[in-house]
Amino acid sequence: MGAISDHCLFCRIIAGGIPSRRSYEDDRVVAFADIKPAAPVHLLVVPRRHLASLADVTDGDRDLIAHLVLVASRLGQATCPGGWRLVVNVGQEGGQTVDHLHVHLMGGRQLGALG
Ligand code: AMP
Ligand code: ZN
Repeated sequence: MGAISDHCLFCRIIAGGIPSRRSYEDDRVVAFADIKPAAPVHLLVVPRRHLASLADVTDGDRDLIAHLVLVASRLGQATCPGGWRLVVNVGQEGGQTVDHLHVHLMGGRQLGALG
């Protein structure tokens, strides 16, 4: 395990060192329940590879990002048939608190306007 994995919360969750409620995983992404859910369904879909944020994504990450969004969409359809929301917080002002790229999947109730 490298230095980033040792210090990154989500890398540790992906590696299994910190427990989580996983709902999906494959060779490139993992989805697990947010510890402080903002909706009845609140999953975090994350790439296994450490990418600090969406601002760090490059052309070489196209396939991974497409897969991440596709998995999030499939999970949304499966868990929130009435509709769902995907959110990616980027940087401090964007509300990002964990510096490992993640997509929030929220649903299971009527969601309000974005604030
Ligand atoms: P963000 O604010 O976009 O960086 O989202 C980080 C999310 O990680 C928050 O919604 C937290 O509730 C969630 N979180 C923090 N620690 C854990 C954990 N150990 N397991 C699951 N989710 C977590
Ligand atoms: Zn990480």
